[in-house]
Amino acid sequence: MNILANDGISQDGVNLLEKNGHTVIQKNVAQEQLADFMNENEVHVLLVRSATKVRKELIEKVKDLKVIGRGGVGLDNIDVEHAKSKGIKVINTPAASSESVADLVIGHMFCGIRYLKNANREMPLEGESSFKQLKKSYSKGTEAAGKTFGIIGFGRIGQTLAKRAIGLGMKVVAYDKFIDEANIELTFFDGQQIDFKIKTTDMNTVITESDVISLHVPAQKEAIIGKTELERMKPTAGIINTSRGGIIDEEALVKALDEDKLAYAGLDVFENEPQPPVKLLMNPKLSLSPHIGGATVEAQSRIGVELAEQLLEIN
Ligand code: NAD
Repeated sequence: MNILANDGISQDGVNLLEKNGHTVIQKNVAQEQLADFMNENEVHVLLVRSATKVRKELIEKVKDLKVIGRGGVGLDNIDVEHAKSKGIKVINTPAASSESVADLVIGHMFCGIRYLKNANREMPLEGESSFKQLKKSYSKGTEAAGKTFGIIGFGRIGQTLAKRAIGLGMKVVAYDKFIDEANIELTFFDGQQIDFKIKTTDMNTVITESDVISLHVPAQKEAIIGKTELERMKPTAGIINTSRGGIIDEEALVKALDEDKLAYAGLDVFENEPQPPVKLLMNPKLSLSPHIGGATVEAQSRIGVELAEQLLEIN
């Protein structure tokens, strides 16, 4: 089969596919040229991550497409039902990036509670001339241990994050629309294992009691965190969104930060990707990353191999 990996694929995945006689085209074809390119190259499998959109119009135009593979969790960039109605299979790798996303959340939290974002920016400029002033400015950080970590959406990533939070000595409170209880298994380097049963609670408890909140729900029609929710949070707290843009109302978030109703926020995903508004990008209380939550060497490798294995099973 001819496989186009339009948003990249790990070498491990390519090796596995090529070893089994498939051709992998590793090229990032622009969205508007994709249909023509796929027809000219008789592409049978289109592999994407979140960047390439596989909408109805594209599916209608391509002739030989048999499988669409999404490296990662959400399928919101693919018109799945339409693909299926045309007999095109849609596959994805839901669990491959949970560890990576959980790590990034913790990174954003530390950027917030230890002012790392601003310290990192100012040290190269003023570290030599104003060390003492900078030291003073950034000496009121707080510790993670003993604080409460609120998780909204207690699925794969939410539960993986709970392990990180517990490891840091934090209390975990979680809300999930469908999950009442989860068994969190912490496995240590020496083989020891400890299980925590975490019963989820209501959304308001998570919002009002947490020192940091992280969102791990699928794409929603409307923001689930808006002005009302942000106003109920502790003014010393932070909020982190690595799930999907639009789950936090960005206008309300910037306002809450500017009015000191919230201490900090971390965003990896944006309503308007790939062009988030400047007022978000320039906000000193926002720790930012360009939708890289699931993008680590390990996750990319796992994604590539998982997609390749699923393709080999189909063919
Ligand atoms: P998951 O399906 O395992 O978990 C999502 C959980 O959210 C489920 O348990 C579901 O019951 C719950 N839920 C759904 N709607 C809810 C609501 N309104 N309120 C509360 N809970 C709700 O998914 P996951 O693998 O944990 O992924 C979570 C999110 O992370 C997805 O949006 C995914 O697209 C995103 N993600 C982002 C990156 C990145 O690069 N930043 C990488 C991977 C995944």
